[in-house]
Amino acid sequence: MRWMCGMTIRKIATVGHPVLRAPTEVLTPERLASPGIQTLIDDMIETMRDANGAGIAANQVYESVRIAVIEVNDNPRYPYKPKIPLTVIVNPVIEPLDDETVEINEGCLSVPNMRGNVFRNVNVRVRYLDRHGNEHDEVRRGLTAGTFQHECDHLDGTLFLDRVVDSTTLTTWEQFERFHRAAFIDRIAAFVERVGS
Ligand code: ZN
Repeated sequence: MRWMCGMTIRKIATVGHPVLRAPTEVLTPERLASPGIQTLIDDMIETMRDANGAGIAANQVYESVRIAVIEVNDNPRYPYKPKIPLTVIVNPVIEPLDDETVEINEGCLSVPNMRGNVFRNVNVRVRYLDRHGNEHDEVRRGLTAGTFQHECDHLDGTLFLDRVVDSTTLTTWEQFERFHRAAFIDRIAAFVERVGS
């Protein structure tokens, strides 16, 4: 761990570590307000940004509590993703609004150098608390909905690998760039244009 501006960049658990497979613990408002949890949230934001992640869940930094942070802002790992302002989600509950799905090529900070295609719901309702304990009830769509589903999956002990239907879509990042990126970006840019997020 190293220190930056008082925040700690934490070590990221990788696939195979049991902490990624255990469902995380729901937080009470009192525990959410505690200095330990507020520091954890600051550290998760710093760790996500340092690793160029689009999001990170608490169990990815070895803390088995139901918190994730999400932010997309010209992300070099996922340049086609629409921007998402920094969002802290505590005790999130996500539900699909209909049956529409989209096939998204995903990666994960806990699955180094691997990407693969998963189907995500296009329209979801997500309810959560922010870091101050305020309740939110929102509709998220498109790739942004996919990012929320990926992070909520983590909090349930699920990795994107579990949702890969066609294992021939699994690639290293290098081979994705060489053989798959152009076609994926064409398809997903048209999707983002249609859905608007
Ligand atoms: Zn992930």
